[in-house]
Amino acid sequence: MFDLEKIVRPSIRKLTAYSSARDEYKQEIANMLFLDANENPFTNGLNRYPDPQQSTIKKVLAEEKGLNTSQILLGNGSDEVLDLIFRAFCEPGKNAVITLPPTYGMYKVLADLNNVENKEVLLKKDFQPDVATILKKADDKTRILFLCSPNNPTGNVFDSDKIEKLVKDFKGIVVIDEAYIDFYAGESWVNFLSKFPNLVVTQTLSKAYGMAGIRLGICYASDAIISVLNKIKPPYNVNQLTQQKALERLQDKTLVQKEITQLLLERSKLISELEGIEIVDRIYPTDANFVLIKVDNATDRYNQLITKGIVVRNRTNQTLCENTLRITVGTSEENKYLIKAMKELVKIK
Ligand SMILES: *Cc1c(COP(=O)(O)O)cnc(C)c1O
Repeated sequence: MFDLEKIVRPSIRKLTAYSSARDEYKQEIANMLFLDANENPFTNGLNRYPDPQQSTIKKVLAEEKGLNTSQILLGNGSDEVLDLIFRAFCEPGKNAVITLPPTYGMYKVLADLNNVENKEVLLKKDFQPDVATILKKADDKTRILFLCSPNNPTGNVFDSDKIEKLVKDFKGIVVIDEAYIDFYAGESWVNFLSKFPNLVVTQTLSKAYGMAGIRLGICYASDAIISVLNKIKPPYNVNQLTQQKALERLQDKTLVQKEITQLLLERSKLISELEGIEIVDRIYPTDANFVLIKVDNATDRYNQLITKGIVVRNRTNQTLCENTLRITVGTSEENKYLIKAMKELVKIK
């Protein structure tokens, strides 16, 4: 049985959250005079501290996902959300997490930063999780398992029976990082939160929603997990401008959907063009807005593309990703420009 109390760090279990007067009296509800926070009273649209609970955004998200607002935490990008999860559940120098390389680099950075052991269990050759080895490596000091699906940089989603087995059998928190979920036709694990008390799903406005510049990350989990994270988040971690822009964007579903549809079309066009290019040895299946390809020599090709003014991501140093490049799907013009440049690259003898 999953026991949340047992895995929250003792110092955090005891903590009470910082509370501002604004937490207690909501500006919209009571038309009150606010002389509590030493703000400048002259109105300019930004002279007040932002809503620490971002209630309006959460209402929109809760409705969309069929959850309660108490199951949502927002952060300054998902990177902040992931850091909060580390700090809530991992005692530095004592606890451990499991990550599955090749994957998103921030999990390891955050583990190092928090002085938490990172046990790495490589993905299998088909880039699926090695369920048996993961469960074998997990001991009672292992607090979090990070699953990135669709995975960065490989692009694939993890099989749902494998994820389900891991969520059921892993004794700590399972974080499913769904940064790219909007490019995937299948279901989000957000829909299974009520079934699994140890499940945390993270999403972001940085990719499909086209809002990388505002920094908004989203965490969905049980009420109990969210209230632990709420205790430790900085009170005003999502600024007023971000809240406004996020809300505008979330309310413009049609435009976002239109862009996603267009990117998916561009993705398939890009893939079929790449298939005809001599230096491309392999194109990995993708459910994200990028494509991982294997070429003859990734570092040479990367440098050649740079001289042509194109920056892709060289992933050759990542385990299982030798001689691979990760290419983000751009606009139609950008993709054409890339293909033209790649056609000019001839085989190095
Ligand atoms: C891009 C990306 C994120 C996004 O992080 P933000 O801080 O929200 O911009 C999270 N996880 C993965 C796997 C990513 O590739």
